[in-house]
Amino acid sequence: WKGEQSMAKKQFQAESKRLLEMMINSIYTQREIFLRELISNASDAIDKLYYKVLADEQQEFHKENYFIKITVDKDNRTLTISDTGIGMTKEDLENHLGVIAKSGSLAFKQENEMKEDHTIIGQFGVGFYSSFMVADSVTVISKAYGSDEAFKWESEGADGYTIEPAAKDTVGTDIILKIKDNTEEDQYDEYLEQYRLKAIIKKYSDFIRYPIKMDVTVERPKEEGSEELESHIEEETVNSMIPIWRKNKSELTDEDYTNFYNEKRYGFDKPLKHIHISADGAVVYRAILFIPENTPFDYYTKEYEKGLELYSNGVLIMNKCGDLLPDYFSFVKGMVDSEDLSLNISREMLQHDRQLSLIAKNIKNKIKSALQGMLKDERENYEKFYQAFGRQLKFGVYNDYGMNKEDLQDLILFTSSKEKKLVSLDEYVSRMPEDQKYIYYAVGDSVDRIEKLPQTEMVLDKGYEILYFTDDVDEFAIKMLMQYKDKEFKSVSSGDLGLDNEEDKEQSEKEAENYKAMFDYMQERLQGKVKAVKASKRLKSHPVCLSTEGELSIEMEKILKAMPN
Ligand code: ADP
Ligand code: MG
Repeated sequence: WKGEQSMAKKQFQAESKRLLEMMINSIYTQREIFLRELISNASDAIDKLYYKVLADEQQEFHKENYFIKITVDKDNRTLTISDTGIGMTKEDLENHLGVIAKSGSLAFKQENEMKEDHTIIGQFGVGFYSSFMVADSVTVISKAYGSDEAFKWESEGADGYTIEPAAKDTVGTDIILKIKDNTEEDQYDEYLEQYRLKAIIKKYSDFIRYPIKMDVTVERPKEEGSEELESHIEEETVNSMIPIWRKNKSELTDEDYTNFYNEKRYGFDKPLKHIHISADGAVVYRAILFIPENTPFDYYTKEYEKGLELYSNGVLIMNKCGDLLPDYFSFVKGMVDSEDLSLNISREMLQHDRQLSLIAKNIKNKIKSALQGMLKDERENYEKFYQAFGRQLKFGVYNDYGMNKEDLQDLILFTSSKEKKLVSLDEYVSRMPEDQKYIYYAVGDSVDRIEKLPQTEMVLDKGYEILYFTDDVDEFAIKMLMQYKDKEFKSVSSGDLGLDNEEDKEQSEKEAENYKAMFDYMQERLQGKVKAVKASKRLKSHPVCLSTEGELSIEMEKILKAMPN
């Protein structure tokens, strides 16, 4: 690469440009997160290099060579974030800093459709671009691992960027921010203050595994015992470098977990619950798991990929390890760190790894009991969770031939005729009147429509509760369960509702004889439409209703008929 100068300004891709403009113009309350974003990129870059070096037997690893450094120059109003990571080639600068990372932009669009509100940017990170919230211009000087040339990328925001050759001795990246001047409304000077930067690093980046160094001014006595002080510049490591999952639960606040969740990009919402595990039994691992509040926009599509981050003794070896989560808990986000896994393990090998399947089993049980605990003690939150992910649990009951029903039957809820509230099967059964034999349910498009079904009247009249199935999967799921605590499920539209005693039955048979001629006539007129016309004891204020003979409800028959063979 010689001679060819690419000083012409290049344009950002359209959507990046729009986001940049919004960000720069936004009244943004949490500007400070730009530093978290840049440090996290620096840490990622070191991870990539670290991994390469570890996997290469030819290379020696010197821990002290890997660090992040924050430098402030108040006079020139610059803040520099340097790393000794993998660096970027010219193409990388072009491809990675010219477009917004795909996942981020998708989520952005999604959120944005919901509400056109500039402050939403504060709810999630937008990576590198967040630096424009505090900087008039951003300069990136980078030298990629394995390359002997360095490049400089420069931009003043939405109107584009330039790339040119630059001088840099060591591999890695320097990000230089020209911090904005204070305005009447907005303060930016704070991002040039040591104490403020230190506080931001502590808050968001404390667990970063590499030292984040900063030159700080310390006052010390001029001589031993002397009263006169002298300023020294000293390099200090600001972060504790202890990853949050290695810390004691008692040391951590909810805010720490939420910060970690956001930092890691597990979601842009606030998690409903976190589960912090440190297992020292048959299998040794640590994990932090989250139950999100909102359904990811692609959750119920094929695009959604479940999985947890997998670390081997602190080194990230896989971004989304799907084998760690059963499908029915695919909404869980988080990470697992285990010393028992090899660094160079491949995806295929992991699938057959005994340690990993033990961890997966353990994790499954922890999630299950966390959800059970939530249902018991934090009902409101559980229902919020259930609105977002309940369908997945019901699919879980149905899938795998009901193999997981034991795990899931106590986690599913249905709307009940009683106060139209969500109830668990346990709640339903425990308040059943003594003479009630079955768990009754009714299927329909909505609660309103179900309530108009003539078939529900008699059951409700008896003082029995009915579960309202409004989701396609509901009836399939309970067919898999078959029964709960020895009580069978019964559709209110099935032929025999189990409400009558022997005497009643005999009497209705007699009555049916009396009306035989009329029923035969009706059946003839409705030929091909109904199988039989019978007297029913289930009707109260309606003259007639449809019912099914087998165990399938009308709704289920509809779905089965619509399915391709
Ligand atoms: P994300 O980190 O989510 O991928 P960013 O906008 O933060 O999105 O960064 C975009 C990309 O730019 C990164 O994925 C990475 O490839 C590259 N990048 C950013 N900062 C650095 C850095 N300090 N060293 C090496 N590559 C970097
Ligand atoms: Mg990033």
